Amino acid sequence: MKGLKTEEKIKLILQRREAMIKLCLSACVHCSLCAESCFKFHNHSKDPSYMPSYKALHSIGKIFRKKGKLKDEEFEEMKDLIWNKCVLCMRCYCPMGISIPLLIAAARAVCREKGYYRTYDVISKRIEKSKKVLTK
Ligand code: SF4
Ligand code: SF4
Repeated sequence: MKGLKTEEKIKLILQRREAMIKLCLSACVHCSLCAESCFKFHNHSKDPSYMPSYKALHSIGKIFRKKGKLKDEEFEEMKDLIWNKCVLCMRCYCPMGISIPLLIAAARAVCREKGYYRTYDVISKRIEKSKKVLTK
C-alpha cells in the first residue's frame, strides 16, 4: 500500500474484507450467545459494551457503514473498544459462524491507518512502579 494516501488505504482495507464484513454484519441475529464465551465480558460484570457482537458492531460495523469517514473523536472512542475490551483470543463462539476477532482486527487495521493505536500509558505506569519497588 506504499504511496497511497490514508483514505485510499482505508478504502482498500475495507474493499479487501467487504464480503466477510457484509456477511458477518447481516448474519448476526443478536442472540448474545457469543458473550457467554468471552472472558472479558464475564470479568467486567457482564457490561454490555464487552459483548463481542457489541464490540464488532460499534467498531467495524460503524466504520463500514460510514465508509471509513468517521470523526476523530469517534476513532478515539473506538480505541478502548478494540484494544482494551478485546484481545483477539478467538474464544467467542457464534452459532452463525461469525468471526468477531476477524471483524475487530479489521477495525484495528483501519484505526492504525488513521494513526490511532493502542496506548500503553497504563502499562508503562505499572512498569515504572514495579521498577521503583525492585530497585529500592
Ligand atoms: S452469537 Fe453470533 S449471531 Fe449471536 S449475537 Fe453473537 S455474533 Fe451475533
Ligand atoms: S476475541 Fe475478543 S470478543 Fe472474542 S472472546 Fe476473545 S476477547 Fe472476547
